[in-house]
Amino acid sequence: MSLPKIDQEYFIDFLVKLLNIASPTGFAGPAIDFVEKELSQFKQLELSKTRKGALVAKWEVNSDLSPVALTAHVDTLGAVVKEFKKKGRLKLSRIGGIQWPTVETEGVWIFTSKGEKIRGSMLIDTASGHIYSGAGGETPRNDEHMEVRLDARTTSKKETRALGINIGDCVAFDPRVEVTNGFIRSRFLDDKACVANIVAAIKSMADTGQSPARSVYFHISNYEEVGHGAAAGIPAEVVELITVDMAVVGMGQESDEFSATLCIKDSAGVYHFGLNNKMRALAEKHNIPYKTDVYPFYGSDGEAFWRAGGDVALALIGPGIDASHNYERAHMDGINATTNWIMAYLLSG
Ligand SMILES: [Zn+2]
Repeated sequence: MSLPKIDQEYFIDFLVKLLNIASPTGFAGPAIDFVEKELSQFKQLELSKTRKGALVAKWEVNSDLSPVALTAHVDTLGAVVKEFKKKGRLKLSRIGGIQWPTVETEGVWIFTSKGEKIRGSMLIDTASGHIYSGAGGETPRNDEHMEVRLDARTTSKKETRALGINIGDCVAFDPRVEVTNGFIRSRFLDDKACVANIVAAIKSMADTGQSPARSVYFHISNYEEVGHGAAAGIPAEVVELITVDMAVVGMGQESDEFSATLCIKDSAGVYHFGLNNKMRALAEKHNIPYKTDVYPFYGSDGEAFWRAGGDVALALIGPGIDASHNYERAHMDGINATTNWIMAYLLSG
């Protein structure tokens, strides 16, 4: 049996839109709403939200087999306003460990609690080449020295507060999305690429009139980057959980941008032997290019569910992402391999 064809244009269009919606952990509501709206066109799905704000889409079918689930997350790295500096600039507290050097000179939006947004940019506090010359290069890129320069008239704490900014307001870094020659570049392909994989798989199956072999829950998580996204929201009747999240590409890794990867072990633990073998067999049956790999600094939402007491078989698959948690890049080959793997799983029973 061959897999339904993937609508490439649809995938890219959906992913680019999702990437351009700011969604640092804690402020992922608009991205969740966007995915909800997209999935609402598929009448096969029953949509709901958890109290924590995750989106759950159930595709129910008539089957004696117990339901399964897939999860991917829309929340990303980001920051919140930590302090007002004397000159009216902002010190930040990072969400999910964004690396400061990767966002130096990046554009940011500050989202106030009143729903306004104010533009700015990230700089070191020794930015001017005509004042600090080479010394700026020596400045440590850390919480102390990185600051937001607001594109608003302020030279004091008081003036910054008067703009409506408060301590704790969300700070989102520009995603800088670019699609060139089969490659997709963006700051937050982790894990929006995989949310798009799931949505594209649902669309391909729905368009061709196919249904999963057993009922399935799609869990779109909103707190993954702080470690507990899927700890809640996976129903107890689920017997298998596939976490769809990026594969680590770089020195010492087997993964690449042109394949999908089955992660056997990451720094938080090992995955489920039986379900891993089921995923390998599906990839081989459908000629899906895949690698197996071990990720050095990585934990997944599936593991969050396990730690919370979830009793499921668990596996982790995803497309290779170069320079993860930095300026990330994927290729459509790895992306398509992942979408195909999801469809192969859903149709397999
Ligand atoms: Zn991720």
